[in-house]
Amino acid sequence: EKFQNMGLSESTLHAISNKGYNEPTAIQEMVIPFLLSGESNVIGQAQTGTGKTAAFGIPMIEKLKEKAGYVQALVLTPTRELAVQVCEELDSLKGNKKLKVISIYGGVSISEQIRALKKHVDIVVGTPGRIIDHLNRGTLDISNIEYLIIDEADEMLDMGFIEDVEFIISKTNEKKKVLMFSATIPARIISLAKKYMGKFEIIST
Ligand code: AMP
Repeated sequence: EKFQNMGLSESTLHAISNKGYNEPTAIQEMVIPFLLSGESNVIGQAQTGTGKTAAFGIPMIEKLKEKAGYVQALVLTPTRELAVQVCEELDSLKGNKKLKVISIYGGVSISEQIRALKKHVDIVVGTPGRIIDHLNRGTLDISNIEYLIIDEADEMLDMGFIEDVEFIISKTNEKKKVLMFSATIPARIISLAKKYMGKFEIIST
């Protein structure tokens, strides 16, 4: 299937071609139509470098509203490098849709992040520790999110972030969709999914 046959908006198609993506990758071919159809809760089995960011980014950008007035999506990443990379990818895929994407991670001054979060933000990409810091300070509200994406979920668990991830999930609502991307799907990923995702599908390439 081609990007042109997926029912994407002109703005998104334009952004995709600006990035030089001619054909969807295997994971994109499966995940994009699935999420566009309104299906939710996915574990996508994908290594880094397979185009997994655009696999969730493209349909999520299509579904999010302009000027919602609240944080609509949270992407959790195990490292700051990945947070920056995912933030840039989402920002370039939004085309001319008016969505604000910011990255939030530790090791840098928090005051600038607080200032950024006071303005209109649609998508937050961040590492668990600093996200929790903002939740505890009341400078980030994720109670209205439509999408929670846990990127590199196996890494996240290996790095000991499970309790942080569960705390963050506890600050979200019931109606959100949960997407996990993971290179491997060990039993603890499945148990996390069973605990928080209700009905879910595993999409592997
Ligand atoms: P990711 O797996 O999301 O880290 O993406 C890996 C790399 O593939 C990134 O540099 C993307 O810009 C690139 N990429 C993603 N989707 C496509 C595509 N459909 N065609 C060509 N390159 C892509």
